[in-house]
Amino acid sequence: MNFLKNDEYYMSIAVGLAEEAMLRGEVPVGALVVRSDGFIAGRGSNRRQQDRNALAHAEVIAIDEACRTLGGWRLSECALYVTLEPCLMCSGAILNSRIKRVVFGMSDDSSPGAFTRLKSGSLLRRTEVTAGVMERECKELFERFFKKLRSERKMSKLNFTEVKTEAQIETAAALADEIWHEFFPSVLSAEQIDYMVERFQSARAMKEQINSEGYKYFLLLNGGTRVGYTAIRHDGDGRLFLSKLYVKKDSRGKGYATEVFEFLKRYCRENGLKAIWLTVNKHNDTAVSVYEKRGFRKIGEGVTDIGKDFVMDDFYFQLDVEQERDGI
Ligand SMILES: [Zn+2]
Repeated sequence: MNFLKNDEYYMSIAVGLAEEAMLRGEVPVGALVVRSDGFIAGRGSNRRQQDRNALAHAEVIAIDEACRTLGGWRLSECALYVTLEPCLMCSGAILNSRIKRVVFGMSDDSSPGAFTRLKSGSLLRRTEVTAGVMERECKELFERFFKKLRSERKMSKLNFTEVKTEAQIETAAALADEIWHEFFPSVLSAEQIDYMVERFQSARAMKEQINSEGYKYFLLLNGGTRVGYTAIRHDGDGRLFLSKLYVKKDSRGKGYATEVFEFLKRYCRENGLKAIWLTVNKHNDTAVSVYEKRGFRKIGEGVTDIGKDFVMDDFYFQLDVEQERDGI
């Protein structure tokens, strides 16, 4: 095939697409489909996390775009440039789209990778292959990504388990009952605590919130120990409402809240949400100062009637979440 530019030229574009994926917190893989006259018919970068889709590999996205751009499924006049050796699924897509040539940067870790294995069999025998183009650059991106990921994991002690089963709901409700009765007597009357736990934090109430009101609850676990729980809700305006964040008394002051906020920020970035907001009781001075220290700003206040002559007299706080992750 006669390309207008050399392989390094096209691979450098694929590396740029991989970098783009990395900025979104994705494993850095980029791909492009180039027609024999040098026309770039499709581009793709890994979007698996963002799209929450196992099929959203860079190669599939680039092939999909190329088919639409060129108006046909047969890409027999095209080459695919990709920073990482194609996986089994993408090798299948390459085979099915009749791509004539594959150029990749770094090999798959599980050497030989799926593509190399298929190539050495008979399936991809007509596909031309060039491996190792700009391998160093592709590898360097990968290493940077996984180094950052490893250091984040090492720091993390907490496991976030989404509450889904009846048993998990019972666990969350038991935690709520324990923590609320221990924590709130300095802020609310005993009667109001009982009322609020029953109305908002009983197993029945949590189930209703999860099934019908768009809430997600997470248990916070350190090893096998239950440390606390948190509840969130996506609001239609692109914000995340942090409804609950409670840590058991003997687990406070151990940095768990920081981990929860990192988890929530990551959650916002992965789901395209721009801010976290919450309400806090005006008399809960400890919480107010904690949120202010974490960069939350007061955006309002209000009194909500919660029935039975009880009210919630709250400040509203908000934290803006930057969309790009630092460093990677
Ligand atoms: Zn793939």
